[in-house]
Amino acid sequence: MRTEVVEILQDLIRIDTVNPPGNEGRGARYLGELFEKEGIEYQLVGEEGRENLVASLGEGKKRLLLLSHTDVVPASEEKWDLPPFSGEMDDGFIWGRGALDCKDLVAAEAYTLIRLKREKAPLNGTLIFAACADEEKGGTVGAKLLTETYTDMIRADFAINEGGGEYIDVGGEKLYLLQTGEKGPAWSRLRASGVAGHGSLPTLADNAVVKVAKAVKALSEYNPEIVIIPEIKELIETYLSLRGDPRNVTPQNVDEIIDSIPDQVFGETLRSVTRMTVSPNMIQGGTKVNIVPDECEAEVDVRTLPGQDESYLRRELEPLIKECSLEIVHSHPANFSSADSVYYRLIEETAKDVLGPVHCAPHMLAGATDSFYLRQVGIASYGVSLLSTHFPSELIKTVHGANERIDIESMEVKTEFLYRLARKYLS
Ligand SMILES: [Zn+2]
Repeated sequence: MRTEVVEILQDLIRIDTVNPPGNEGRGARYLGELFEKEGIEYQLVGEEGRENLVASLGEGKKRLLLLSHTDVVPASEEKWDLPPFSGEMDDGFIWGRGALDCKDLVAAEAYTLIRLKREKAPLNGTLIFAACADEEKGGTVGAKLLTETYTDMIRADFAINEGGGEYIDVGGEKLYLLQTGEKGPAWSRLRASGVAGHGSLPTLADNAVVKVAKAVKALSEYNPEIVIIPEIKELIETYLSLRGDPRNVTPQNVDEIIDSIPDQVFGETLRSVTRMTVSPNMIQGGTKVNIVPDECEAEVDVRTLPGQDESYLRRELEPLIKECSLEIVHSHPANFSSADSVYYRLIEETAKDVLGPVHCAPHMLAGATDSFYLRQVGIASYGVSLLSTHFPSELIKTVHGANERIDIESMEVKTEFLYRLARKYLS
């Protein structure tokens, strides 16, 4: 099994599915050939050249969905130590774009079906596999299409997807983050107009860039309300108890706790999931150095918590942006699957079976994955792409960055978890 799941991952990395343009059909057809050889039924659905692959094994009322995506973000080759589409193995690591996001999960999920099929495992239910296109650009021809148009094919009691399964080291104890929810993106546009004029007579004109600049500065100083949702309260309190700190988490003390966390990525993630975040990331205005601009726009990445709808966002931000208008260009609400469910408990129990004595807690992702679309149609979805207890956690930041890679042990752990989960749930 060691070599096989790793070889599938290496093959997938070598298939260029950088989105845009995607070309995910190449990855889907590769998986189709694998399944074909094993006699696993599958279908390619979606846009030509960008197909999604949906396969299934077994029959019956209980249904478990293994979801992933085949597209990847671009990689600037000169920043990598090994070529990003080589799938090369070096010192126990498989290198390449997608090694952690999320061709690792595609390979592990595909191999889980293959292994169960070969073992002729008697399944009391249906195991569904869906490798989607387009996750990195919003999922329109991927998970969105599957959930809206091919709902019956992927309908399941619950799903496993990317977006969780890494651990935090707390003085040698491992705390695994099982993702049960995600914040909601609310991508917004600021706009200001003014009066154009000669750059040598600025007081005769009305400068739109200056108006947007003031708004952007005010947004960068925005002081959001702190909100501790129950899942995050449980996560932080579990973390604290592992440090021997019995404190209750409150909106008043959470920043002090976060400041004391040595793992900066974890700390700042907690900061993000305890408030609405506002990040002005693009500005466009002006055409020439000697012309006062009469138009300017800025794009702002806002991420909301449960209950923070459009009126909340406007109430909070409009007083800050004064001379600009605010348009919400793309948004969806924060979304959750229950951490108090048989599915979550089964996931936690199986993770501990595979990993040994570790701790688990529910987690909320600051970003977004295809789990949103699943939750929209009532499929409980959990982000659990497990990494091994030896995975160097600083490598998490190679996701979407340079030198993305995964260790062989994590591939084994990930696959073993999915295999045991499927056997347990569908037996
Ligand atoms: Zn991903």
